[in-house]
Amino acid sequence: MRVVADAGPLHYLILTCEISLLPHLFETVVVPETVRSELAHARAPSLVRDWVASRPPWLDVVPTLPLETLPLPALDDGERAALALAPAWTTDWLTPTAHRKLAEAGIAPPRRGPPACPRCGAASETISEFGATACKALHRCLSRREPFEAFKCH
Ligand SMILES: [Zn+2]
Repeated sequence: MRVVADAGPLHYLILTCEISLLPHLFETVVVPETVRSELAHARAPSLVRDWVASRPPWLDVVPTLPLETLPLPALDDGERAALALAPAWTTDWLTPTAHRKLAEAGIAPPRRGPPACPRCGAASETISEFGATACKALHRCLSRREPFEAFKCH
């Protein structure tokens, strides 16, 4: 798994000598050049500067997008550059296992178009655009007439 980091977590994992945890958890840690330069800054602790100077193969430094195009101007440049590399989560990221577990729990997994009943696979009708949470809608199975919740696509 690839993850994106800003300077904070790397800085403290280096100082606490726990940075070697990251390659056990993640295949690659991606940081924008802005974050690399923060870690290499003259005012960073020498332990941090030395670590980033001999960066490990699992650390992928990528160019920073033009700062004027990045959102969230209240954050520092490294945070903004890292956030720009991490797209917002969507239900498209749910794995087939997650879909199966939702259906086993009686919740129709997200899909484009009207959801099928998670219990019998029949077509459904919408009862309400909102279920117990805003991310779900309430539907009724057209075969057994039982209500069920369906995860919306986000
Ligand atoms: Zn059904």
